[in-house]
Amino acid sequence: MEFNSFFGILAIGYREIFMRVIYKFVFVVAMLTHGFFVNGAQNTQLAPIYRELNQQIGNNPKIALEQLQAIDISRADNLTKAQHYYTFSQLYLSLVYPQKALEYANQALILVDEMSQTWFWHRINLAKSQALDVLNRADEGLPLALAASAWMKENYREYYVDSLIAVGYLYNTQGKHSEALKSFMLAYELAPVSGDFMTKGSIAGSIALVYEYRSENELSIPFFQESVEYQRKTKNLLELSISLYGLGRANNNIGNRDLGQSQLQESLEISRKIDDRQGVAYALNELALIELQNKNYEQALQMYSEASEIFAEGGSVSKVWDSLDSLAEVYIKIGDVEKAENAFKRSLTYLSPDKMPTQSMKSRERKAMILAAKGQYQEAYELLESTYVLKQKYLSKQSTEKLHELRARYEVESKEKENLLLAGENEKNKFILFREKKENQILWLGIIIAGTIVFFLILLAHNSRQQKKELQKLAHTDGLTGLSNRLHIIEYLEKEKQSLGKGEKLYLCMVDLDYFKKINDKFGHVVGDQVLVEFAKLCQRFIQKPDKVGRLGGEEFLIILHQCNEKQAYEKVLLLNQNMFQIADELKLSQDVISFSAGLGFCEKDDELELQLKKSDDALYQAKNQGRNKIILAKIK
Ligand code: GH3
Ligand code: MG
Ligand code: MG
Repeated sequence: MEFNSFFGILAIGYREIFMRVIYKFVFVVAMLTHGFFVNGAQNTQLAPIYRELNQQIGNNPKIALEQLQAIDISRADNLTKAQHYYTFSQLYLSLVYPQKALEYANQALILVDEMSQTWFWHRINLAKSQALDVLNRADEGLPLALAASAWMKENYREYYVDSLIAVGYLYNTQGKHSEALKSFMLAYELAPVSGDFMTKGSIAGSIALVYEYRSENELSIPFFQESVEYQRKTKNLLELSISLYGLGRANNNIGNRDLGQSQLQESLEISRKIDDRQGVAYALNELALIELQNKNYEQALQMYSEASEIFAEGGSVSKVWDSLDSLAEVYIKIGDVEKAENAFKRSLTYLSPDKMPTQSMKSRERKAMILAAKGQYQEAYELLESTYVLKQKYLSKQSTEKLHELRARYEVESKEKENLLLAGENEKNKFILFREKKENQILWLGIIIAGTIVFFLILLAHNSRQQKKELQKLAHTDGLTGLSNRLHIIEYLEKEKQSLGKGEKLYLCMVDLDYFKKINDKFGHVVGDQVLVEFAKLCQRFIQKPDKVGRLGGEEFLIILHQCNEKQAYEKVLLLNQNMFQIADELKLSQDVISFSAGLGFCEKDDELELQLKKSDDALYQAKNQGRNKIILAKIK
C-alpha cells in the first residue's frame, strides 16, 4: 500500500529522543566508570559511595538517582561538590531531564577552576554541551564540545574519544550527519577493542544510529551487530535491548522479517526484565507492525493496545497517536467497526494537525476507511478525494525538500571524498591554495596594471590624435591670420579641381595689398600685421564656404570661388574690395591707405593649375600697373 512510502518520511522524527537516550547511557556509564573516578575523584571522601552508585547506573538509573539524592554533601569541599553536581547532571541527562542536567552542570562549573582543574572543567562543559543538545540548543553546545575536544586531543588522549562522541551527537542534532559520522568514525578508529575507556563496541551503536537516521539500513546493520555483541559481553542490559531494537528494526526494514522479529522480541523481553517501560512500548510497536504484516491481527491488537497505554504514560503524544491509529487499522481489518471508531476517536485527542501534518492526513484516510466500513461510501469518497489533494501538495513540498537534502548530502560527501584524497597532501594543498591566492593576486594586479596601461595608451592615442590634428591644423594654417597657408590652399585647390564636373569652373583670384611696404614703414610692423589680421577677418566675413581664402605669403592672398559664373565671382571680390575701408576704420587709419589689387581667372578640371594661377597673377600685375585698387579679369587661353 501507498502508506508505507508515505509514512517513511514521518518515521524519522519518532526516534530522535530514543536515540539520545541510548547515547546518554553509553556516555554516562563510560564516563562515570572510567573517566571520572579514575582521575581526581578517587581521593575525595565520597569516592566509594560513587563507585557503588556506579554499579546501578547501567541497570537502573532511577535507583541510582535516588541513591545520589540521599548523599549529604553539605560539608564537602568544593571539588567534591562539583563532582556531585556533575554526576547529577549526567544522571539527569541519562533520564532525559535536560533542563536539570544543564542546571547541575552550570552549578558544577562555578565550583571548578578552569586554570588549575582544566580537564574537569572541560568534562563538565562536555556534559553541559549534551544537555544543550537535548534541549535542542546544539548551536550553543557545539562550541563547548569542540573546545573540550581540542583540549583533550592535546592533553588527555583518553578522553578525546569521549569528546568526539559528544561532538558527533551535536552535529547529528544539527542535521550535519556526515560531520557526525566523521566524528564517530574517528572515535571508533581511536577506541580500543576492550579496556576501561570507551571501546569500539560501545561506539558502534552511535554509528549505527546515524546510518539509521539517514535511512541507510544496510550500512547500520553491521554496527548494530557489533554493538549488540559488545553489550552482550559487558552484560549491560539496557544498552543491549536498545541495540537489539535498532538491529531488529533495520533488519525488518530491509525485508529480513523473521530475523528482525526475533531481535525485536529479545529487545522486548530484556526491556520487560529491567522495567524499561518506554523500551517495551517501542519494541511492541515494531513487533505489532510485523504481526499486522503477517495478518496475525489478534497479536497485533494486543501489542498496539499495550504500546499505546505505555506511550500515554510517558506522554509521547505522536507515539500514542501512532499506536491508536494502528489499532483502528487492525480493527477495520477484522471488521470491528465500532472498536475501530473508538480507537480512532481516541487517536484524534492526541493529534495536533499543525505540528503533525502527515499524521493528520493519515488520520483523514483512516476516517474514510471507517466511513466506508460503515457503508457511507459517498462521504468516504469525498474525504479521500480532498485528502488526496492535500497529500499531493504536501508530498511535492516534501520531495522538493528531500531533493535539496539529498543534493546537500551528496555534495558534502563528494567533498569529503575529495578531502580524503587530499589528506596526505594537506601541506601541499595549503601551499597550492596559497600559491593560487598569490597567483590570483598577481593576476588581479596584472589586470589592473594592464588596464591602467591600456587606459593611458588610449589616452595617449587620443591625445596624439588630437595633437596630430592640431599639428596638421598648424601645418595647414597661417600663424598670423589663421587662414590656410600656401601649402594648404594649393592642396585644397588641386583637390577641388579634381572633383570638378565637365564644364564646371573654379574662379581663382590673386590678391595683393597695395603699398604694404609703406604701411609697415609709416605705422610700424605691428600695425602691418594688424592690417593682415583684419584683412583675414574681412575675407572670412565676405568669402564663405564653399569659397576659401588662403595666404600665399607676405601680403598676397588667393581666393577660390565655387559654383558661380565670372560676373558673380567678380562681384564677390568687388564687395570685398569695397569693404576694405572697414580695416582702416578698425585700425583708425585713413581710408585711402588700405586697398588691394586683384587678378581674377579660373580653372577647369583638365587645366594645368600653375598655368592658370600664373594667368591670375598676370592679371593682378596688370591691376597694379593700372594704378592699384582694381580687379582685372585674366585673359583666358
Ligand atoms: P605693391 O603695391 O606693389 O604691392 O607694393 P608693396 O609695398 O605692397 O609691395 P612690396 O612687394 O614692395 O612690399 C611688400 C612688403 O610687405 C615687404 C614686406 O616687408 C612686407 N611684408 C611681408 N610680409 C609681412 C608681414 O608678415 N608683416 C608685415 N608687417 N609686413 C610684411
Ligand atoms: Mg606683394
Ligand atoms: Mg603689395
